[in-house]
Amino acid sequence: MARYRESVCRQCRREGAKLFLKGDRCYTEKCAFDRRAYAPGQHGQRRSKFTEYGMQLREKQKVRRIYGLLEKQFHGYFAKADRQKGVTGENLLILVERRLDNIVYRMGFTNTRAEARQLVSHGHFLVNGRRVNIPSYQVKVGDVVEVREKSRKMERISEALAAAGRRSLPEYLEVDKEKGRGVLKALPKREDISQSINEQLIVEFYSR
Ligand code: SF4
Repeated sequence: MARYRESVCRQCRREGAKLFLKGDRCYTEKCAFDRRAYAPGQHGQRRSKFTEYGMQLREKQKVRRIYGLLEKQFHGYFAKADRQKGVTGENLLILVERRLDNIVYRMGFTNTRAEARQLVSHGHFLVNGRRVNIPSYQVKVGDVVEVREKSRKMERISEALAAAGRRSLPEYLEVDKEKGRGVLKALPKREDISQSINEQLIVEFYSR
């Protein structure tokens, strides 16, 4: 599977925003974006003025990087969102928000979405009692996501749960940390996604 191999902190610096891709480190003074809030590379400190296209592209890249998706996958979500009823930009965000790796991260079982993706593909999570190892699995309302019995003692998971307090639990989720399980109570709403995203720019990008 293709994946991004460069330093993840470069992605934040490229997008000019904290994307919180490194878990705990993002909340400390070691955060590369807090120390060097300009684009990476030789000309990174030059002031760049974005064209309309540039702004649309950057917004699309930002969201793609937040959720750790490749272009083809992300475009696929856009096409699906466009076919659905309602506002395309919001549909797009809700579709990526319902991915199993994102739900596992939001529930606090991992520190980052990348870690969630890895643990899901290694079969550490169950959905409604059945092992699901597909990170892109779309979680439905009422689905119960839980850490597999055997995996409950994993340090990575208990450490993540202990640190999860610094991220607020979205309204659409309910989590029982003791039992290592959570449920999707309702579909995510646009306001549940607190990171600063202008999804309209993404719609404009793909509608060119
Ligand atoms: Fe981004 Fe800072 Fe986290 Fe690195 S540590 S991923 S720069 S928010």
